[in-house]
Amino acid sequence: MKFFVKSRGDDDSNLLTEKIRHYLLEFAMEESKESPEIVISVGGDGTLLEAFHQYTDRLDEIAFVGVHTGHLGFYADWQPDEVEKLVIHIAKTPFKVVEYPLLEVTIRHQGERLSDRYLALNECTVKSMEGSVVMDIEIKGDAFETFRGDGLCISTPSGSTAYNKALGGAILHPSLSSIQLAEMASINNRVYRTIGSPLVLPQHHTCFMKPKYADQFRVTVDHYNLYEDNIQSIQCRVADERVRFARFRPFPFWKRVKESFIAE
Ligand code: NAP
Ligand code: MN
Repeated sequence: MKFFVKSRGDDDSNLLTEKIRHYLLEFAMEESKESPEIVISVGGDGTLLEAFHQYTDRLDEIAFVGVHTGHLGFYADWQPDEVEKLVIHIAKTPFKVVEYPLLEVTIRHQGERLSDRYLALNECTVKSMEGSVVMDIEIKGDAFETFRGDGLCISTPSGSTAYNKALGGAILHPSLSSIQLAEMASINNRVYRTIGSPLVLPQHHTCFMKPKYADQFRVTVDHYNLYEDNIQSIQCRVADERVRFARFRPFPFWKRVKESFIAE
């Protein structure tokens, strides 16, 4: 089996990365940055986000696993002192794969025929470069509201514990193929009205955001920043693609939530 180990780049992560590479090579596994079947990220959740984006065109062939060199992460859930065990699992046993839903973001520009398509593991956010975001929001083809405020966050279930959580969004179990739309400080008074609550949309319920004015926007896709002019629409929906994680032992999502946010 072909593997690749991605390090966050700090000394601790680099050292652990070398150790994992060494062990896996000793088990006669083949290292391949181009076409790995298992990708091990060493660092934090941010490192796994980077590894994910490195391989978005090969998601159906790759299983990801995360080792954390800092605090427990949502994607990085193996401890440094467990890597011997992890390596033996990878080399010796067929592993179970769990799949999580992803968010598809399609950005269309005025007067351009081709659109830009992105996949997010956590979320997409839309903010203005200056002043408020003013967007008409359509859900499943019907006008829903006109949003005015700081911005919008559309997250995946596994991303619901990240930015979305800070916005008061719900934590969604990743078995729910859905996306969540959360507001950032909407302006609500007698003139402007938004729903105020986060919305959870099932598969095939597309959310369209159309700017009212020709503003400049800062759009984020996970840890990436895009600076966008002339946006005609931003379309969000549950992607056809899914991300695959290698599971060697049960570590239920709610247990990860508890251990990350409440107590070990
Ligand atoms: P970062 O600034 O290091 O990330 C912020 C924190 O979010 C880090 O502690 C990161 O963990 C954690 N995180 C990432 N994905 C998570 C998930 N699915 N569930 C729970 N926590 C998660 O930047 P980054 O590492 O490149 O991560 C980018 C993410 O930061 C974005 O996708 C967004 O979700 C998040 N973010 C959050 C806020 C906010 O909460 N107000 C604002 C901006 C961005 P590690 O330390 O293990 O990397
Ligand atoms: Mn980080």
